[in-house]
Amino acid sequence: MTDYKYIAVEQHDDGRIVRIMLNRPEARNAQNRGLLVELGDAFLAAEADDTVRVVILGGAGPIFSSGHDIGKVFVEERTGPNPHPTYGINGATRQGAESIMLQEWHYFFENTKRWRNLRKITVAQVNGTVYSAGLMLMWACDLIVAADDASFADVVGTRLGMCGVEYFAHPWEFGPRKAKELMLTGDSLSVDEAYRLGMVSKVFPAAELGERTLEFARRLAALPTMTSLLIKESVNQTVDNMGFSNALQACFTLHQLNHSHWAQIHDDNYPAALPDDGVPHWKEAPPIVPAAKDKARS
Ligand code: ZN
Repeated sequence: MTDYKYIAVEQHDDGRIVRIMLNRPEARNAQNRGLLVELGDAFLAAEADDTVRVVILGGAGPIFSSGHDIGKVFVEERTGPNPHPTYGINGATRQGAESIMLQEWHYFFENTKRWRNLRKITVAQVNGTVYSAGLMLMWACDLIVAADDASFADVVGTRLGMCGVEYFAHPWEFGPRKAKELMLTGDSLSVDEAYRLGMVSKVFPAAELGERTLEFARRLAALPTMTSLLIKESVNQTVDNMGFSNALQACFTLHQLNHSHWAQIHDDNYPAALPDDGVPHWKEAPPIVPAAKDKARS
């Protein structure tokens, strides 16, 4: 098995089930470039292996994923003495909007769509607060199983002045009005509400999440592979015909317009909003609170 630095891969049931764990618990599984490249490699390896029937994607530690890494490791990967090799290809050496658009297309958008279309059944196993780009990874999976401590929030609007993450599945997952509410406020959706919406299939006690998800995966793995793949594909092709994939593509271009706006008005071309633009610094932002029925803010 490949040696990974940022993820861990487990095999269960003689390889019929593979569990990929994001493995940066100290960084709340923030998605740096190395992690995303390894994740893509592990997904495609599981897809290529005919023994594998179900792929589980989880996160080590208290939080499934806090979103894209915008901290020290991310900066070092790009500008440090040993940059990640992907910062020399796929548009990284181009300039301005072209560079951001191409890099985000390869490492945030097209890879997520590719995982959504994986030729295996995929199950996200999530716990803690799933932030922003953490939602993208989870939504790319066929089913989502959550710990009872889970909640869900996209805070890039309220903290970075961005119109959501690059893979804009929000209206399809939350419903159109809830998507607007959650993104305009940055409030979080509770696991019970996510279950009620149908986004989450199972809610398990946090301490039993790994074992109970495996038990659930065993049920899914029992179905003939042709049947399960065509069920997946029938649903995916239905939502594609309803406009899902075209809408994702359209919203990706809006996302790039949003980056370009911030880059144009900042002297250093920083492509997201700053405190002077009216958002708090992400490290000092007020806490994320649950969306409440009877309060303007919880
Ligand atoms: Zn972006």
